[in-house]
Amino acid sequence: MTTKKEFLIKPDFLKRKLPGYGDYSQVKKTIKKHGLNTVCTGASCPNIGECWSQKSMTVMILGSRCSRNCLFCDVKSGNCEEVDENEPFNTAEALHELEMKYAVITSVTRDDLSDGGSSHWAKTIEAVHSKGIFLEALIPDFKNNKKHLENVFSANPEILSHNIETVPRLSKLVRPQADYQTSLEVLKYAVNSKLVTKSSMMLGMGETRDEVIEAMKDLLSAGVSILSLGQYLMPTRKHYPVTRYLDESEFESLKITALSMGFKMVESAPLVRSSFGAAAHIKKSMEFNNIF
Ligand code: SF4
Repeated sequence: MTTKKEFLIKPDFLKRKLPGYGDYSQVKKTIKKHGLNTVCTGASCPNIGECWSQKSMTVMILGSRCSRNCLFCDVKSGNCEEVDENEPFNTAEALHELEMKYAVITSVTRDDLSDGGSSHWAKTIEAVHSKGIFLEALIPDFKNNKKHLENVFSANPEILSHNIETVPRLSKLVRPQADYQTSLEVLKYAVNSKLVTKSSMMLGMGETRDEVIEAMKDLLSAGVSILSLGQYLMPTRKHYPVTRYLDESEFESLKITALSMGFKMVESAPLVRSSFGAAAHIKKSMEFNNIF
């Protein structure tokens, strides 16, 4: 159903309970106490209530402002902040305080920094590891600079994630400062560095099923073993519009297809986000490292 303003109405199955139950407030307090940013709040994630109530969240390092401006993203853009040298320590302390065993760290893209923020990334992964916490590192593309990527890879995250976000035809449109092939190169380099890799796409931006399957083939040939597929949700009416809401059955069918094509783990459902189910992914990838 469309209104005359040409915006689709969100179906009920995409509406979430307001946050506030379970461990939500403890997570909120701890994040605030340690002065951390999260992509949960930065990108207005609909799952925040459910995830935080289960002590699952994604810390966003290198500030709250990004040097890029993807059309689907609600993170503020431009005027990037000074890097907080205490952030690696504070991140590790916060996760430790929350007794988390598995965590996801991501960051804004910092094309304005000489090393893209890669040494800060390495320090953060090492600090978190020093608390006995296993993690998924959801990284920007570092413009595929091998030295900067090695800085991060040498800290050995249990899972290395980088999102292609959408199919090649739409990539330049919705991620103007990024590039589809560059993202595949980053993932390939992570695989060659013996890291377990993961990527994700948002659907409902105008891609066809065939295009999604072609993108899956690209990821598999890059050596990616974990895939997440979720419904794109427009943060505000200033962002890239949703072209359609996929049925839950379409996600289920794509999941079956992806597993039959060779992905080791697939999360595919309307409200799946790239860090959704991350704890299980990290645990499983550590258990079965030899098959990934
Ligand atoms: S690079 Fe990442 S954080 Fe920056 S605008 Fe794009 S999606 Fe958002």
